[in-house]
Amino acid sequence: MCGIVGYIGFREAYPIVIKGLKRLEYRGYDSAGVMLFDGNDLKVSKTKGKVSDLEEKSKEISQSGTIGMGHTRWATHGVPNDINSHPHLSNSENLAIIHNGIIENYEPLKKELIKRGYVFKSDTDTEVLVNLIEEVKKKENLKLGKAVQVALNQVIGAYAICVFDKQKPDEIVVARLGSPLAIGVGKDEFFIASDASPFIEYTSNAIYLEDEEMAIVRLHKPLKIRKIKDDTIVDPYIQELQMNLEQIEKGGYDHFMLKEIYEQPNVIKDTYRGRLLANEGIIKMAGIEDNLEKFLNADRILIVACGTSWHAGLVAEYIIEEFTRIPVEVEYASEFRYRNPIINKNDIVIAISQSGETADTLAAIKLAKENGAFVFGVCNVVGSSISRETHAGAYTHAGPEIGVASTKAFTTQITVLTMIALRLAKAKGTLSNSDFHRHLQELEIIPEKVQEALEMTNEVAKTIAAKFKDSQNCLYLGRGYNFPVALEGALKLKEISYIHAEGYPAAEMKHGPIALIDEQMPVVVIAPKQGHYDKVVSNIQEIKSRSGKIIAIVTKGDTQVRDLADYVIEIPDTSDALSPLLTTIPLQLLSYHIAVMRDCNVDQPRNLAKSVTVE
Ligand code: GLU
Repeated sequence: MCGIVGYIGFREAYPIVIKGLKRLEYRGYDSAGVMLFDGNDLKVSKTKGKVSDLEEKSKEISQSGTIGMGHTRWATHGVPNDINSHPHLSNSENLAIIHNGIIENYEPLKKELIKRGYVFKSDTDTEVLVNLIEEVKKKENLKLGKAVQVALNQVIGAYAICVFDKQKPDEIVVARLGSPLAIGVGKDEFFIASDASPFIEYTSNAIYLEDEEMAIVRLHKPLKIRKIKDDTIVDPYIQELQMNLEQIEKGGYDHFMLKEIYEQPNVIKDTYRGRLLANEGIIKMAGIEDNLEKFLNADRILIVACGTSWHAGLVAEYIIEEFTRIPVEVEYASEFRYRNPIINKNDIVIAISQSGETADTLAAIKLAKENGAFVFGVCNVVGSSISRETHAGAYTHAGPEIGVASTKAFTTQITVLTMIALRLAKAKGTLSNSDFHRHLQELEIIPEKVQEALEMTNEVAKTIAAKFKDSQNCLYLGRGYNFPVALEGALKLKEISYIHAEGYPAAEMKHGPIALIDEQMPVVVIAPKQGHYDKVVSNIQEIKSRSGKIIAIVTKGDTQVRDLADYVIEIPDTSDALSPLLTTIPLQLLSYHIAVMRDCNVDQPRNLAKSVTVE
């Protein structure tokens, strides 16, 4: 995963690189490093820990220089320590590299380089790459750009790299395959980064490199992009950035996660804005309209995703099947890509990913395309790899999600997938006119209900969090549309508070998990009035008979569950199909408050990173 930042221009590079790394820290935060060039010396400072640790450490070096590169790491090869941190230097110490990705064939390359006399300080695959570039450059007497190109043609794996040569200090060579890389184009300056957030205050012009492309970013010269494989020149396509500074700052909240939880009413509205016209009875999404026939003739929809997006896919399975009667299967992208799945020409594959860079999901997309399926992407980051690799798609418009634990991405994914289901149901005639209109009206007012849910649940979630913050385990139960919400609730608690949690379909409990229940075990039961209420009430009785501590999410005014549960959290009433958009709110808040009370790093939980660009 990891974040990379580079700068070449007329300003001091150090503050730009450090600020940029802080914005990219969501991508990895086990170590960080910086390289600066001041016209004479190449200086490197790197350390295990966060960018704030790097700021301390880099006081040891002079921080001047108008060329700089920085890295925040999520280790794949070699433990997080000072030596394995990036940048890595080549043996001559002329070349410096920062790298996001994995060089899969680093071992044979390393052996070969050792035979030729190279010495390695770190355990990383990255140090192999920088020495390979050096070896190619020396042996074939090439300029840096050409040497990078030749070396990359020997490499198997994924990368976004920046390479600097102190003997040619007016350029940085960049390349990508599988990991994202954006170039900000200013006047007499260039910025390089894993996403555009490090440079939005300097320029709104960005070029996103495509896979298998490289560029020589040279001062006072137009940018040259070429294909790594065959050297073809590519015309740079400059995009106008849509992000603004406010979106990537905390705006008075203690954590990005809390800010993003509270943004949900607005971003759900942004997601359906211009697409949902409830009064006219219209849902239109360009990606669906342009391919409506394909959807209507589909034998099956396959959803591929990972993590929270996979949970959104499960919610979509219930909604799409119920509304459209098209069979849906939901797959973990990481399993799908390696199990020789049956994919037919009449299948539609929907790939869901917040970042649009998830490596396993991208591989699943490629596989589906090779097998002739039509692939539709649902992602948040505009211009991301998934949006480019898919035949069509719909953005979620959630705005930048910086907290590593996904919140608003989940609810906006559900919003998009619900709109798709409704649009297809209308075209297929599988929903009655009155039901169709009822769902549209309900979806239109859901942002107000999400707002109400936030107001109704935050304080009570905090009180309950105080009671259960020291628990070792927690169970989450739900049925129907709220079974995937139970999975998502458990994931949220695990990832940010490190409490072991499991989500189950409520009825499954008696096939095993019920054995875990005793007076120590908190059980969160999602029991809104709509759906399988009576069945869930019976499940609650079963937990109560075994002295489990019941925290129930119920519809406002509920009395039956209130009598049984130890704690209740009320949410507004809505339809069964839309209930995940509300039931998920108290679960997000509960996890958030527990994590804060346990002193956990809410926005950057241990071992995790946001944009999972490694498989
Ligand atoms: N493979 C490199 C390393 O372990 C880069 C990992 C990353 O993308 O964060 O250092």
